[in-house]
Amino acid sequence: MARRVVVIGGGVMGSSAAWHLAARGDRVTLLEQFRPGHDRGSSHGSSRIFRIAYADPFYVSLAVRALPLWQRLEEETGTSVLSLTGCVDHGPEQATSALRDVLTLAGRPSETLSPEAAAERWPGIRADSTALFHPEAGRLNADAAVAALQRAAELKGAEIRHGVRVTSLTHRGGGVELVTDQQETFAADAVVCAVGGWAPATLGPVVPGLPPMRVTQEQPLHFPAADALDWPSFIHHEGAGLTVGGGVYGLGSVDGVKAGFHGVGPVVDPDHRDRTVDPAARERLAEYAAKWLPGVDATAPAATTCLYTTTPDHDFVIDRAGPVTVLAGFSGHGFKFGSVIGELAAGLVHGEPGSRRFALGRHSG
Ligand SMILES: Cc1cc2nc3c(=O)[nH]c(=O)nc-3n(C[C@H](O)[C@H](O)[C@H](O)COP(=O)(O)OP(=O)(O)OC[C@H]3O[C@@H](n4cnc5c(N)ncnc54)[C@H](O)[C@@H]3O)c2cc1C
Repeated sequence: MARRVVVIGGGVMGSSAAWHLAARGDRVTLLEQFRPGHDRGSSHGSSRIFRIAYADPFYVSLAVRALPLWQRLEEETGTSVLSLTGCVDHGPEQATSALRDVLTLAGRPSETLSPEAAAERWPGIRADSTALFHPEAGRLNADAAVAALQRAAELKGAEIRHGVRVTSLTHRGGGVELVTDQQETFAADAVVCAVGGWAPATLGPVVPGLPPMRVTQEQPLHFPAADALDWPSFIHHEGAGLTVGGGVYGLGSVDGVKAGFHGVGPVVDPDHRDRTVDPAARERLAEYAAKWLPGVDATAPAATTCLYTTTPDHDFVIDRAGPVTVLAGFSGHGFKFGSVIGELAAGLVHGEPGSRRFALGRHSG
């Protein structure tokens, strides 16, 4: 049965939910507090890694579902969002072999290389002790993907509104009443809350079982490289020659080769952060690039900032509490799954069961 659904948040998750809900015939309104393409949340910029390879088969199967949905989005909107340039994982043997084993079990392709063979093929990257190439990976253009998801939702009848902040959410009858900063009131059968780093403050008081989440400001750098768009994405795993906890990720983009440490930034309040670049962290990453990325100009990086919203187990929250569906806690690795997370959200709104792995309340015993 078609439902009246309000989606709060126009990042990748809310936009995807709006697309899938509208495709089911629901009457959908998406409300986003900032302008289109804003850079104050988690979904902006020219690049995010797409990859099927995870050491955990659960995420492999989720990425396998996400891939054709990104391609369907490209067909529906006539825009390009995904470039399959492949990915090189390198570092200690146990990290690359664990990925290779999971990919093999799932019937997905990969290739193991010596560091010398990897350096010959990708001279811009100095591989550590072992390397694994997997072709079902590459780059999502984040800005293009969010714009395409919203366009696809509109094509299916959704209304997308920017510059509208939801200020309260109250249970009414079996549904929800929302009030905005423009004193508008919406009555909805169901609400999808995809508010990124704003989730702990906004949803904590109204959604039972929301896990504790750390909101941090991360600061990747873009390094100039003439052939940046041809680069595979890469992950340099901790251990062997790298002691940085969480390793280093990177990929080519129109802005150069992006590289970043994973989830090491300071805790921030998304409404009151000044987006100042930390010079010491910038220096550490530039030193990394000088040593491990011979294909970039390590002396002239440009910084950008972005929010991570991290759960204690780094698993997402994709669950429903009555009429409120929550998409939160994407822990710095959610974008690649965005196309399928909207589909999961639409299923929850329509009473389909969710995954226990993503359940609310899983941290409260
Ligand atoms: C530096 C960095 C690198 C990353 N790299 C990768 C990667 O390579 N691969 C990968 O898969 N993932 C990556 N991620 C993670 C991925 O980008 C995020 O998981 C994803 O973008 C989260 O999207 P979201 O929609 O949940 O949040 P957001 O994009 O923050 O969207 C939430 C939206 O809700 C809006 N909002 C909040 N409150 C309200 C309100 N009350 N009313 C109206 N609107 C509201 C906000 O303005 C915001 O636009 C990276 C993240 C960062 C920060």
